Amino acid sequence: MRITVVGTGYVGLVTGTCFAETGNNVTCVDIDAIKVEKLRSGQITIYEPGLEKLFQRNLKENRLTFTTNLEDAIEHAEIVFLALPTPPGEDGSADLKYILGVADHLGKILKSYKVIVNKSTVPVGTADKVQFAISQNFKGDFDVVSNPEFLREGVAVDDFMKPDRVVIGTRSGKAKKIMNDLYAPFVRQGNPIIFMDERSSELTKYAANSFLATKISFMNEVAQLCEKLGADVDFVRRGIGSDERIGKRFLFPGIGYGGSCFPKDVQALIKSADDVDYNFQILKSVEEVNRIQKNHLVNILKSFYKGNLKGMHFALWGLAFKPNTDDIREAPALAIIESLVNLGATITAYDPEAMYNIRELIGDKISYAENQYEALENADALIIATEWSEFRTPDFIRMDAALKENKVVFDGRNLFEINKMSDLGYRYFSIGRKSSEIN
Ligand code: NAD
Repeated sequence: MRITVVGTGYVGLVTGTCFAETGNNVTCVDIDAIKVEKLRSGQITIYEPGLEKLFQRNLKENRLTFTTNLEDAIEHAEIVFLALPTPPGEDGSADLKYILGVADHLGKILKSYKVIVNKSTVPVGTADKVQFAISQNFKGDFDVVSNPEFLREGVAVDDFMKPDRVVIGTRSGKAKKIMNDLYAPFVRQGNPIIFMDERSSELTKYAANSFLATKISFMNEVAQLCEKLGADVDFVRRGIGSDERIGKRFLFPGIGYGGSCFPKDVQALIKSADDVDYNFQILKSVEEVNRIQKNHLVNILKSFYKGNLKGMHFALWGLAFKPNTDDIREAPALAIIESLVNLGATITAYDPEAMYNIRELIGDKISYAENQYEALENADALIIATEWSEFRTPDFIRMDAALKENKVVFDGRNLFEINKMSDLGYRYFSIGRKSSEIN
């Protein structure tokens, strides 16, 4: 099939590349000319495990091309995907200006039937708005389909190639058949393509992300309680997670959820509910708990140093909002940096993939190290904000040498065994567990 993907960010690039991998002819469009030029010349613009190989192969086979020109890109396409940003507006609702701007443009340049598929996360009713915007100028036949994306950054290629399910919202028989054919190669192992109406499909995405965010905030509250009651959240997590009804995943406490999706999607669903006079109470609490949790590690630091962090210097391991990505949008590390710098402390940070992005965002607000051990030099303590696997089994001899007498670790991701840290002579603080000091 001939496919156009409009918006070549995390979702658009993965979507375009994976559709090309199954033999489709894909043109990716973006307004960012620099990004398009890089991609054309074979330079990948995001870090995502496994993506580069597929990207290079399909680029070479000419199944994957890049352009800034929407009109040229859609000329031969049967299907046009929208993978555009839907950032929060001032009131928390999803800002549809990118989607509706492109829809309006499409209305002016469409010449024949196409399926317009919205992959962005959008509020209920957006398919109708896109339909309306296009129909203002294009009087021919077309369908607007909702096809929310559930990929997770860090495992996006796997998620796209082998999705747990594909959700497609359309009431058009013609669009349904086209979408079914397109996705058939991705569900050969029997995972379902779930067809529904557009509104249910749009809500499914928000409900999924909000439910996962709820799970995280719930466990963060359990962790807070563990700290106060002298219980260990790791045991509690395993104790409840082995119940099939609860499940093992998404039960890890930490320093709050971040990323480009959960915070904005929770916010947008609360706003959508408010708009129809429904008070989504649980989600409001989920958001508040997350706000509190993002400060939790800094509060532990403050209490350890008796409120005085002025002039202190910290090593920070991890900047990306989660491992295996270079994405720092709404990363908990950013909140930690902000708080510590405001309290007069300095930071040297290291992240395996996100250094470029963080420099672009905050410049010389902090210092940067070449590797995780260099970050420790002259530090009063180590703070861990992202659970990259290389942080899980560090060389403690190198750590000891760099930290000297300051063997203090504030771990927002519970990477180490408390007893082991104790044996190694560390004062070790983590989330929802005893600190090694009082062991
Ligand atoms: P992104 O910011 O990484 O990418 C968006 C791209 O769209 C950018 O490259 C931008 O230059 C481009 N763009 C903006 N206006 C354009 C226009 N008029 N024409 C062409 N290109 C344009 O965003 P993303 O993370 O890929 O997210 C896209 C959507 O998918 C959002 O709604 C998001 O909520 C949703 N989503 C994201 C993820 C994720 O993990 N990132 C997962 C599922 C769903």
